[in-house]
Amino acid sequence: MHARAHDASQRERRGNTLIVRGLSIASPILGLSGQCDVVEFRACEGGVPLQGENGRWQPYPIEYKRGEPKENDADALQLCAQAMCLEAALCCTISEGALFYGKTKRRMTVSLDDKLREKVRRMTAEMHELARRGHTPKVKPSKSCNACSLRELCLPALMRKKSVQDYLGEAMEGDE
Ligand code: SF4
Repeated sequence: MHARAHDASQRERRGNTLIVRGLSIASPILGLSGQCDVVEFRACEGGVPLQGENGRWQPYPIEYKRGEPKENDADALQLCAQAMCLEAALCCTISEGALFYGKTKRRMTVSLDDKLREKVRRMTAEMHELARRGHTPKVKPSKSCNACSLRELCLPALMRKKSVQDYLGEAMEGDE
C-alpha cells in the first residue's frame, strides 16, 4: 500500500482532482525535507497555479499508514509538517489534510491548526538542537515499532539487551 502511495510515476486525474504521488518537498525554515505519500490538488478558484496544468488548485496532503490510528499525535505531526513544507513551496495555506490507515481502511481528516503547527516547530527545533549537540536520544520501544519504517536503523530490540557497561560490571562481580 505504501509503495503504491509512493510511486512517483503516478499522476492521476479523477474529475476535478489531480492526484500526485511521491512528491518531493522541503522547507528551509523548518530544515525538513521528504516525500509526500499523496497530495490531492483540488480544482479551486482560490488555489495555486500548477506547472503544466490549467486553472488553480488547492493542495490536500494524505499520509498512508499500514496500521491503525495511534494514541499519540505522531502521524498528525508528520502530516502537518508535510503541509507546512507544501505551503512554503507553493505560497498557500493548507488548513486540512488526512491520514489513511490500512488496518481500518478509513481516511481520517486532520485539522492543521495553530496548536499542531506550533508543536511541529517546537519538535523540529528540538531535533535540530539534538543533532547540533551530536546527541542521539534513547530509543523508546513501543508497539508502533512493529510497523515503523525506521526499525532497521533504530534497532529498538537492542534496548532490551544489557548495556556493555552492565555486562562488564556483572562479569567483574562474578570474578570477585
Ligand atoms: S523503531 Fe525507533 S523510531 Fe520507530 S517507532 Fe520504534 S523507537 Fe520510534
